[in-house]
Amino acid sequence: METDVKTILAECGFGFKKQLGQNFITDKNLLASIVALSGAEEYGAVVEIGCGAGTLTRALAEKVKKVISFEVDKTLAPVLDRTLNGLGNVEIIFKDFLKVDLAEFEKGLESYTVVANLPYYVTTPLIMKLIESSKKCKGLCVMVQEEVAERLCAKAGTSDYGAITAMVALRATCSIVKRVPRTLFIPRPKVDSAVVKFTFGDGIDVADAAMYKKTVHAAFGSRRKTLENNLVNSFSLSRQQAQEILADCGIDQKARGETLTPVQFARLSERISEYKN
Ligand code: SAM
Repeated sequence: METDVKTILAECGFGFKKQLGQNFITDKNLLASIVALSGAEEYGAVVEIGCGAGTLTRALAEKVKKVISFEVDKTLAPVLDRTLNGLGNVEIIFKDFLKVDLAEFEKGLESYTVVANLPYYVTTPLIMKLIESSKKCKGLCVMVQEEVAERLCAKAGTSDYGAITAMVALRATCSIVKRVPRTLFIPRPKVDSAVVKFTFGDGIDVADAAMYKKTVHAAFGSRRKTLENNLVNSFSLSRQQAQEILADCGIDQKARGETLTPVQFARLSERISEYKN
């Protein structure tokens, strides 16, 4: 690319939309590092959510066979025409990724990995969509707010551990692979960021994913209440029934939801299912 991205954005009269989480990255070292850390080169196709001005899109396209990039803001089209000029392996789909029918989209693909600098206002729904609904997504490497990164990778019993941590554990393990200061984004956000890499296939086995989800959300429904109280309220159980279920699972009667590991949530959800049927 001859002209620099900031100049192209200005020449196209582009105005950043805060409500769409538009904090772009242009630093070449950071872009190269995200591509390398993602391991994207191993996959046939890379899906990007939110291509912005196309800087990460281009860095990916220079290393992988095919990039399919979703972007909700059509005003970026003239910018992308210039920044992605000359690349024959990039497909841009102007669509809200949350509205994409994943089953339909995946029909045309063998498998893919997702690499993205995610729009912060929808980080959790976007990650959960992939965790819960994708069949062919085999990897995920995303830039998120540092605080969200800590929550995604938290250990049971810590204050960062929450429903999202336990839900991700269904299909993947994850770790923070890079910390990124706010100074590397344009415009500069109020918080720092981190890159989180998910390894799919290292999840836990559950018989009924919907029941697992319900159990996790019940456990974290009211963090100050004991797990027993949350189970009574969420599953219409008597106190005695809730106590029996916890005892069967070897869980302390006074335990709080955040102390349970994902494997314990799985066992608990199975026991609740047995009890209810
Ligand atoms: N990838 C670019 C980069 O790293 O510079 C842009 C990242 S910026 C944090 C997030 C991008 O996602 C923005 O361009 C925004 O317009 C887009 N976006 C926001 N919500 C979206 C959604 N629901 N589906 C697809 N794109 C979205």
